[in-house]
Amino acid sequence: MADVFSKAKRSEVMSRIRSSGNRDTELVMVALMRAHGITGWRRGQRLPGRPDFVFRRERVCVFVDGCFWHGCPLHFRRPKSRRAFWDAKIARNKARDRRVARELRASGWRVLRVWEHALRKPGPLLARLRRAIGA
Ligand SMILES: [Zn+2]
Repeated sequence: MADVFSKAKRSEVMSRIRSSGNRDTELVMVALMRAHGITGWRRGQRLPGRPDFVFRRERVCVFVDGCFWHGCPLHFRRPKSRRAFWDAKIARNKARDRRVARELRASGWRVLRVWEHALRKPGPLLARLRRAIGA
């Protein structure tokens, strides 16, 4: 396929595609929790790393990690162009994930990270979530 975008434009387009993918995964998670009667969560709480969902009373933070952005060992596929750039970017994201989790745990939060791919067969992740919030 001919490359119709300039390099800069292409990476802008890619990042837009991928970041909207992340919003979608959050909405899938919302739908799952609603469908399974899991309540008590909030979005948009001001905490380190801006967790996707926060159960304040149970002190549990939930992050839904996109397989691309967070370097899923099963599904991460490095774009063919600008490999060094993407490797560095994903490595930074993973390092930030670890730092944020440490910071939250240090102030008494439990941290649950959910892979985007786990949303497709959500039984195990819902069970983990229920255990974490004591439901
Ligand atoms: Zn994955």
